[in-house]
Amino acid sequence: MTIRFDKNTGLVPVIIQDYLNLKVLMLGYMNQEALTKTLEEKKVTFFSRSKNRLWTKGETSGNFLELIDLKLDCDNDTILIKAKALGPTCHKGTTTCFAEENDKGFLYELQKKISEKIDINDESSYTNELYRKGINKVAQKVGEEAVELVIEAKDNNNELFLNEASDLIYHYLILLKAKGFTIEDVEKILKSRSK
Ligand code: AMP
Ligand code: ZN
Ligand code: ZN
Ligand code: ZN
Repeated sequence: MTIRFDKNTGLVPVIIQDYLNLKVLMLGYMNQEALTKTLEEKKVTFFSRSKNRLWTKGETSGNFLELIDLKLDCDNDTILIKAKALGPTCHKGTTTCFAEENDKGFLYELQKKISEKIDINDESSYTNELYRKGINKVAQKVGEEAVELVIEAKDNNNELFLNEASDLIYHYLILLKAKGFTIEDVEKILKSRSK
């Protein structure tokens, strides 16, 4: 890939995105040296225009950005990085440098966390334990949670209803994973239906 660093400054803008919830965490700049260091160490290093030197994000705070994925935009003059933030990314103590927005992507984040527990075979995890029992057991559990939700729907206890609604979604995500699918597969079908 040939990155088009700015002719005058030798810099390219870099958007940093949280790899789980896809929130934009910050914007920085890299020169070739910063990019090479980032790829070698798998930790995001910028060229700081104010410090006028290479700056590894987290070098004093410990809030490093672990490199997960790196892509270029359509005309190769901007980098998009997916990173795992080891702490608040903004030096003011917030998760992102931009005003916090509602967590619209939380289910997607939860899906990835469920998937990770299963992929690393986390033996302390209820989710992974259920998954290992096989598709039939997972599907049965989804059925049970659905029935519990129906029962609570007929009642007037909002707290119990919401808890069962949460149980259902959680186990539904495990079932999708067990069948080798994701929310995105379901979204595709729903989108095609809502034309
Ligand atoms: P850090 O790289 O997290 O150790 O922070 C070192 C210094 O870099 C801080 O004291 C700030 O001056 C600056 N800094 C850290 N994070 C950011 C950020 N997200 N955006 C702009 N400046 C930052
Ligand atoms: Zn561009
Ligand atoms: Zn900030
Ligand atoms: Zn339940």
